[in-house]
Amino acid sequence: MPFMESGMDYWAAKAALDWQIELGATEAIGDSPVDCYALQPAKPKPDLKPEKSDQTIPNAGLPTGVPDPVEIARQMASGAQDLEALRAALAAFEGCDLKRGAFNLVFADGNPAARVMIVGEAPGREEDKEGRPFVGQAGKLLDKMLEAIGLSRDSTDAQDAVYITNILPWRPPQNRDPKPEEIAMLLPFVQRHIALVNPDVLVLMGNISCQALLGKRGITRLRGDWVDIAGKPTLPMFHPAYLLRTPLAKREAWADLLSLKAKLGTGR
Ligand code: URA
Repeated sequence: MPFMESGMDYWAAKAALDWQIELGATEAIGDSPVDCYALQPAKPKPDLKPEKSDQTIPNAGLPTGVPDPVEIARQMASGAQDLEALRAALAAFEGCDLKRGAFNLVFADGNPAARVMIVGEAPGREEDKEGRPFVGQAGKLLDKMLEAIGLSRDSTDAQDAVYITNILPWRPPQNRDPKPEEIAMLLPFVQRHIALVNPDVLVLMGNISCQALLGKRGITRLRGDWVDIAGKPTLPMFHPAYLLRTPLAKREAWADLLSLKAKLGTGR
């Protein structure tokens, strides 16, 4: 509903929007706005609890006999002893339907010996075509950001190299957000990927990688604060695609890049 029709003036509408952004609600997830006041109250859900509670089963929610893709992913990922084996395990993983709609597996790019490992969200159209992460517009901006602090995915020197991967190795249709079950079944591969690369520092680009690896969203609040993942200093940052849409946020991104540079300067 246009804000004038809603009885809100411009400044009230802007204040409400700023407040949502402050809370971390920075991304639209629907094609059109929802007027919550016009929604019917939700019907009470039928109680689907089984009469007799059973012990916990790993593939709860799946029909009996259907293998749990998360468990399969865990086994395949943990069996990979190096990056080539991990790539092969991902390529052989049949649990995720995204694979069937994608042209290519997008595994990683950069120098596996790098001190810095960047974890993005998912391949877009360009990445799907090329089979390499961050090669579209957002990737070009990412390269410029890294260059500004002396880092590059093309560097053969581990000191100033980066290694880049994504939470999802296959492009979701229409670049939609990954579903929680997709994240859950691909997370064991990402965790193994991090363990095999064993970087000094991790950078999480955007909400999806924070959701997957920290269990939290709200990048506006999370960005810039170092956290720990499996003993690694980890920096959540704005995603370069967000920076392309919101150039004003480049100021915070620059502060985060300087923080990353300072962290690397402190040595191993
Ligand atoms: N955005 C991402 O998060 N990853 C890519 O590879 C490309 C765009």
